[in-house]
Amino acid sequence: MSDSGWDYGIFWDEIINQLQHEISEQEFRMWFDRLSYLRASESIIILAVPSNFYRDQVKARYQSVIQAKLHEISGRDIKIDFEIAKMPDKPTKIIPPAQPSFSSPPPEHVSPTTTSVHDQIREPEQPRREIRQAIHPLLNPFYCFENFVIGDNNSFAANAAVAIAKNPGRAYNPCLIYGGVGLGKTHLLQSVGNYVYQASPEKKILYISMENFTNDFVQSIKEGKMAAFKARYRSVDVLLIDDIHFIQNKNETQEELFFTFEALFQNSKQMIFSCDRPIADIKDISDRLRSRFQRGITVDLQPPSFETRLAILKKKCDLNKLYIPDESLTILCEAITTNVRDLESGLTKLQAYAELVSKEITPQITRQLLKDFLVVSSQKNITLDTILRTVALYFNMSASDMKSKRRTRAVAFPRQIAMYIAREITEYSTTEIGLEFGGRDHTTVMHACGRINDRKKTDPTLEPLIQDLLKKIKSEGTKS
Ligand code: ADP
Ligand code: MG
Repeated sequence: MSDSGWDYGIFWDEIINQLQHEISEQEFRMWFDRLSYLRASESIIILAVPSNFYRDQVKARYQSVIQAKLHEISGRDIKIDFEIAKMPDKPTKIIPPAQPSFSSPPPEHVSPTTTSVHDQIREPEQPRREIRQAIHPLLNPFYCFENFVIGDNNSFAANAAVAIAKNPGRAYNPCLIYGGVGLGKTHLLQSVGNYVYQASPEKKILYISMENFTNDFVQSIKEGKMAAFKARYRSVDVLLIDDIHFIQNKNETQEELFFTFEALFQNSKQMIFSCDRPIADIKDISDRLRSRFQRGITVDLQPPSFETRLAILKKKCDLNKLYIPDESLTILCEAITTNVRDLESGLTKLQAYAELVSKEITPQITRQLLKDFLVVSSQKNITLDTILRTVALYFNMSASDMKSKRRTRAVAFPRQIAMYIAREITEYSTTEIGLEFGGRDHTTVMHACGRINDRKKTDPTLEPLIQDLLKKIKSEGTKS
């Protein structure tokens, strides 16, 4: 961050990167070699230029295109302004990758294999490509293939993603990755983006969540900027849209996405979408869009097996330089079966404990810390019916109340707690839980779990209540 607290340096680097591919080399050198990023405030980037003449020329030629690009990259309205200043000797700004193991295909692009006469007469300066930042502004560099552990649960999806990254637009197009929360959809989507970004710097990659795509669409209509919106999405080489289930019920966004799809598909531009369920289960989506999503390859992510969970934890320990004894890792993997995100939070708990209390992590401490998650073998007998009945009894209700359509708080809260517990301690999917709870949709179950998780943060009485219920449920489970 700069002194003002705002640093848009990475956006600026990306703009320079794009411009140098869009205008001739001569033009680029003439106007951009002597111009540099100086500082920023919330909505303005100040650029240093060597003279008034220079400033006026750059303003007239490039101000609008730079501002349009800034909007495209950052999603915000950031203006540019100029200040006459002596140029620093080296205006290049290279941002090192955050992770040493940053996913990088061989960096052939850095040293061109062919040289022309023109190259030879150039002054010996740094190759211009190095101006380009090492990290794509829309992607998390941690989400790369090297940090993704492949197991039986995800190998098809991971292999498809690697094939696509190596050959975007040609291997499998479009690709739809579906799977429950925390199973690696975003990680894989962004890995493809990061890989392509390293391998082919000239390719334009756009990663966006469906929610932000929708917001951008609505905003663009409101501001009468649909032409820019279309240009933004239809000019990319790789379009990565995360969580497309968000498109349900949004007819106009669906229509726009359909046309974006057609335009990109016809030009063999790669598209990858992620979704929390199979496309067939998305309601209120137009048939033609559904058929487009299904046109290429569909791959799924399942919860990882014990062995894969252990491999993931070991990888995370390596990456974060953490030492946690194998026995504790095994306890974690036995306890947390739901998804990788939960597994990571278990590890974070252990790490925080080690850092704050700085005690050795023993199996006892691990069990103690993870008691929310622990699945003792007796729990394997626990059925949804046991959970439903035990929670109902606790709240003086009947099991049929739990299944009823009633939504008063007196019924809704116990129902949410029961769904949350079912999700935490059983292997049932949200769809199965929803069915058991009066034929509800799986999104209702996800919503219930979210509500309880949120409440746990603010309501200190909730955790003891859940623990109490867990004890009762476990003892019921052992009886059966
Ligand atoms: P989703 O988008 O499906 O909800 P994410 O991609 O956000 O899930 O994954 C949740 C977390 O789990 C991320 O931190 C991700 O890096 C990690 N993760 C998921 N799958 C794997 C895997 N196979 N190997 C390593 N980390 C993984
Ligand atoms: Mg995600």
